Amino acid sequence: MNAKVKGLEIPKRSRNDTWVQRVRPGERLKVVILSEVLWGMHCHWTGARSVECTKAEKACVGCERQLPTRWKGGLHVWDLGRRESYFVEITPRAARRIVEQTENRSTLRGVCIELSRSGTKVNGRLVVQIVDMSIDMKRLPAGQAVSPALQWLWSR
Ligand SMILES: [Zn+2]
Repeated sequence: MNAKVKGLEIPKRSRNDTWVQRVRPGERLKVVILSEVLWGMHCHWTGARSVECTKAEKACVGCERQLPTRWKGGLHVWDLGRRESYFVEITPRAARRIVEQTENRSTLRGVCIELSRSGTKVNGRLVVQIVDMSIDMKRLPAGQAVSPALQWLWSR
């Protein structure tokens, strides 16, 4: 029993858990896209955090409060260095670049990209570069739905 925890032990993170990886300044993530398609959705910025825009399904509190709307994209990716999968958040600019540069493909799965940030700030512009489109996908896992992960990210 961990002396700093009372009641139930904190569950260990399973190796299969997926999570949203933030791209930090100075860091380069070289990942292969596992998703067939990019997942795009709207969210609202409350001033402190992002919340989902639920307009498509039901009345949206964010829309009613006229909170700023932002588009967020998500991809499920495989990290070639760490040999594990996670989700990454994609900005509209990065998403446009990925879609434009893969025009002649039927799927995003198998496209290798490098993600980094310009400048030294945590909210610096997300930069995406396509580095390889000929990845052998036979041994890589299937892509997972992105939306639940984005919701998880926003709920933090
Ligand atoms: Zn809304």
